[in-house]
Amino acid sequence: MDTLFQRIIAGELPADIVYRDKLVTAFRDIRPRAPTHILIVPNKRIATANDIGDDDEALIGHLFTVARDLAKREGIAEEGYRLIINCNTHGGQEVYHLHVHLLGGRPLGPMLASPIS
Ligand code: AMP
Repeated sequence: MDTLFQRIIAGELPADIVYRDKLVTAFRDIRPRAPTHILIVPNKRIATANDIGDDDEALIGHLFTVARDLAKREGIAEEGYRLIINCNTHGGQEVYHLHVHLLGGRPLGPMLASPIS
């Protein structure tokens, strides 16, 4: 069965798409946690970070160069931003189609809610 993100990439579900090429699609998160919250998604389904193949290295690098360019375009590159990939249950992954969160536009605070004690 197609994931939510495959349906967005296929144009079957609406999304605020900000960038698209033959390898990746980027769209605004429906529940933004920061003024800029964009998801950068490979067009081919890779379920989790565990499923990245050795032959996906160029694709994974491309996710990051697109994130870099979108950060510039959003005007958040100089002040800074955060890139997040959640993996599986402990990582808090909700959608099992690999994606990079690009978050910025305000100070984002500590990396995690609480330190290990
Ligand atoms: P993750 O927890 O890393 O799997 O993140 C999944 C993200 O997808 C969450 O931040 C959701 O808000 C976002 N999301 C879920 N459904 C949609 C949708 N239809 N359009 C855009 N973003 C979505």
